[in-house]
Amino acid sequence: MTQRFCKVCRGWHDLDLPWPDNCRPEANMARSDLPTPRVISDRLDDVWNPVNGKKYDSKSAYYAAVKDAGYTIAGNDSSITKAHERAVETTAPAGLKDDLKAAWEQHT
Ligand SMILES: [Zn+2]
Repeated sequence: MTQRFCKVCRGWHDLDLPWPDNCRPEANMARSDLPTPRVISDRLDDVWNPVNGKKYDSKSAYYAAVKDAGYTIAGNDSSITKAHERAVETTAPAGLKDDLKAAWEQHT
């Protein structure tokens, strides 16, 4: 039996049972219990693309223009950088492992 804390009545309710109607937040009363798909719109409000200076009202067109120019949008970061400029190869200097092992043994 799993229970969840109720923010409305400050008690605990069994999740195997339907959530009590009088414990639903006011904003969710009109919402159905049936699952509904979440729709993500393709719409943008005249977003300026710094890559080519054009404005876009479609996310897919904006992303395609950025990708065609060889750039990458990473996460929700608004800055755009070339993917090859971000990639940094790192290699450990020769003998680093032995130096670290020796330093560890000195201090333990
Ligand atoms: Zn409750």
